[in-house]
Amino acid sequence: MIVMKFGGTSVGSASQIHKVSQIVFGHLSRHPLVVVSAFSGVTNHLLELINLTTQKKKISLAELIQRHKNVLRELKLPDTLLDEESEEVAALFQGISLLQECSPKTKDRILAFGERASCKIVASYLNTVLPKSTLAIFSYDLGLRTTAHFGQALPLKESDSIIQNSVSHHKDKLIVTTGFIAKDLEGNITTLGRGGSDYSASLMGAALHAEEIQIWTDVNGIMTADPRLVPHAHSIREMSFEEASELAYYGAKVIHPATMLPAISKNIPVRILNTNEPSYPGTIVYKEKQKMEGTIKAIAHRSGLTIVNITSTRMLDQHGFLAKIFEIFARHRVSVDMVSTSEVSVSITVQEGQDLEPVLSELKVFSELSVEKGHAVVSVVGEGLREDPTIAAKVFTLLREAHIPIRMISLGASKINLSFIVDATQTSQAVTALHSVINVSGSSF
Ligand code: ASP
Ligand code: MG
Repeated sequence: MIVMKFGGTSVGSASQIHKVSQIVFGHLSRHPLVVVSAFSGVTNHLLELINLTTQKKKISLAELIQRHKNVLRELKLPDTLLDEESEEVAALFQGISLLQECSPKTKDRILAFGERASCKIVASYLNTVLPKSTLAIFSYDLGLRTTAHFGQALPLKESDSIIQNSVSHHKDKLIVTTGFIAKDLEGNITTLGRGGSDYSASLMGAALHAEEIQIWTDVNGIMTADPRLVPHAHSIREMSFEEASELAYYGAKVIHPATMLPAISKNIPVRILNTNEPSYPGTIVYKEKQKMEGTIKAIAHRSGLTIVNITSTRMLDQHGFLAKIFEIFARHRVSVDMVSTSEVSVSITVQEGQDLEPVLSELKVFSELSVEKGHAVVSVVGEGLREDPTIAAKVFTLLREAHIPIRMISLGASKINLSFIVDATQTSQAVTALHSVINVSGSSF
């Protein structure tokens, strides 16, 4: 069997859902399990409505419900299909409006509306047009269990056997399920973090020992760089699990960073495909192959980074100094990206948007601080870095030739990722300069 996951843009309208039905039809012989996200924009819309409600503003769910009803009408499905979900979400909004607050637990229940609605609509439509009877079964009813960390729940291992069991009960049916949502052990709805439907698909795939996990999206796979910065960036035909994980983390927004983990554990290839161009081969991600060595696959980037420089002569010959610093960041839940140290100073990067003030005021007590906003991380990713020491030298030469000063450097522990921090205003220049070395056919130097 295979898992086919369709993202928000692939299911955002009646015409997209029609495309999905044709794609699924083409794969019926491979016994797919279909996983869907909420319609594009619906999760954001729900979050916005939650925010407004807790700020005592009057909101209306009419637009949200109407959008789904329009799709039902266009697909000639019963108008009442989402009555249960619509009533539930209305009641939840009434609750948070009375309380003027929304707990993370309630927020997850509200967000689940998007995935549940999409799952029911897609399943009903497939049931009418495909020659196989189709069922909507929410992921938690299939057995996906998580911790109770609402908003960022972690999957529990015991899910696997429950999922296997539930799917085996419906062998002759096509199942459409929800991405993103699950339940904790007490039966509360949880979510896996934004963009988590890819992760759900891969968890399902691993639980069911799928032959392949397909992520259907609106681009032709993972690109060699952000095409907005590098117009001649192209999609990458094949890459290793490690490369794809690094790229997902360092800025390529095509897949959720955790997606590869379950796939790696069962060695299941992940294919990234385009719903709007289904015959395009896309990107296939699988276990590292000999032939991939010596290549650089992509240049990723992420901006909005702040550098915190911490200098203290007390660091000289001290043990436990770094531990002390990290403890402060951890206690204030500020996550750290890159670290570089010398004998008396430490530079740390953090993603903007986190509350740094309490961290800084504690660090100030025993060190001198400087904070530099407006930086970006640029990463060169490829198995080639592990094998060929001349690649790093070439990378630095290119940056020097482009007159781009480097503020910090890190060679990832996996050795397939060389990252540097540059001034954010030079991100585009840096990505473009480095991209020039990815050759179009084989993505190699
Ligand atoms: N609908 C969820 C989100 O927008 C999950 C997903 O699309 O992957 O984050
Ligand atoms: Mg996504």
